[in-house]
Amino acid sequence: MTNYCFPPPAQTIVPIQGSDQVFPVRRILCVGRNYAAHRREMGGDDREPPFFFAKPADAIAPPGVNPAYPSATSNLHHEVELVVALGGGGADVPVGDALSLVFGYAVGVDLTRRDLQASARDKGQPWDSSKGFDQSAPISAIRCHLDRPPEGGIQLSVNGATRQNAALTDMIWNVPEIIAEASRLWRLAPGDLIYTGTPEGVGPLIRGDIVEAMVEGIADLAFNVV
Ligand code: MN
Repeated sequence: MTNYCFPPPAQTIVPIQGSDQVFPVRRILCVGRNYAAHRREMGGDDREPPFFFAKPADAIAPPGVNPAYPSATSNLHHEVELVVALGGGGADVPVGDALSLVFGYAVGVDLTRRDLQASARDKGQPWDSSKGFDQSAPISAIRCHLDRPPEGGIQLSVNGATRQNAALTDMIWNVPEIIAEASRLWRLAPGDLIYTGTPEGVGPLIRGDIVEAMVEGIADLAFNVV
């Protein structure tokens, strides 16, 4: 038995719909600027392709956990996203094989310290503190056993008012393309989660806000910012 100097951290887990099994999280990859209208609202260039960044696995806020308003920001933003949960892995996966890696799908929110992100962007600094903070990755239970990626709507409301409402078919990179692209950069493995990018309509959250997020036919998620 390994002689740890202190108890190792708990494995981050996400529940699975209709199952008493849970999904163990390895890594969280995220796609930036994967919807043209969101790229425009962020002031991006129309020719700039999507890209990846990451959050630590322990940034997950599973269903039932209300994320705390984070320190060091006065402009916390919501970004509703389809999340792909991988049950398989590999490197240099062809687009045509990519869906065979999928375990299931969920709805997630990429919480963002927008003020720190803007400052980092201006200074050419990394995004870790604007994207990868504690409880920055709320996620629903995972829906599995789907043949194809969802193609319906994706929505987010705050205190009952719709803020984001788009179609998953508006993604610049679709799900197989995202998996194939990611596998060129990292050896993917079971337990990896990929947040696939947010549509337009991102905006601020304050303490006490009730956030409801939904991917049609997949999952919904509700939490309070505390
Ligand atoms: Mn995002």
